[in-house]
Amino acid sequence: MSTIAARLAELRSRIAVAASASGRDPAAVALVAVSKRQPASAVREAWEAGQRVFGENYAQELVAKAAELADLDGLVWHMIGHLQTNKARAVAPLAHMVETIDSPALAAELGKRATALGRVLHALVEVNVAGEASKSGCSEAALGAVVAAVRATPGLALRGLMTMPPLSDDPEASRPHFARLRALRERHGGAAALPELSMGTSHDFEVAVAEGATLVRVGTALFGARA
Ligand SMILES: *Cc1c(COP(=O)(O)O)cnc(C)c1O
Repeated sequence: MSTIAARLAELRSRIAVAASASGRDPAAVALVAVSKRQPASAVREAWEAGQRVFGENYAQELVAKAAELADLDGLVWHMIGHLQTNKARAVAPLAHMVETIDSPALAAELGKRATALGRVLHALVEVNVAGEASKSGCSEAALGAVVAAVRATPGLALRGLMTMPPLSDDPEASRPHFARLRALRERHGGAAALPELSMGTSHDFEVAVAEGATLVRVGTALFGARA
């Protein structure tokens, strides 16, 4: 077994254990393999081991990798990095889901580009739950307006919320931020309207699963250190 295949198997079992431990169905948690600054060959290796959903942070890197990996059946891209409106055009033909919509303007631009292509992009609204000045994502105060904008935009299908908590060495430090995202979902339509919660990375995904994550975004624990 390749290293990536072995790590993938281990990650899947850790996700399943975390889900079961909190009374959740392991099938309700999907792994987004974060391939930013990893070579296309690593994505190919993970795909060969059965992984299908990959996350990229930079539009140009997504464009290059998608071209290089166009032969891989069933491969699905999530845009998980901060997206400037002028990059919407590059991302709209390639992404299955954009996890980082944080303004009505970005929603409008993505919707326009998707509609022109006859596509519907799955959409998450990114929330800056900790209120960090340096972070992307909308504020809690702006969330209602961004959610409403995505809902009203042809070419976008609102699926849920995403967050990236402050960096910390302690996975437990992320728990209140993950719980906060879940609470915000209740305030903005609940799980029926917003089924997806994207939260948790290599070091804190088990905490995120315990707090209700349906998508965990794992990079280094699968691929190793980034270039
Ligand atoms: C890089 C990144 C991840 C993955 O982080 P790892 O620590 O490598 O697991 C997840 N989410 C976002 C938004 C990222 O930028």
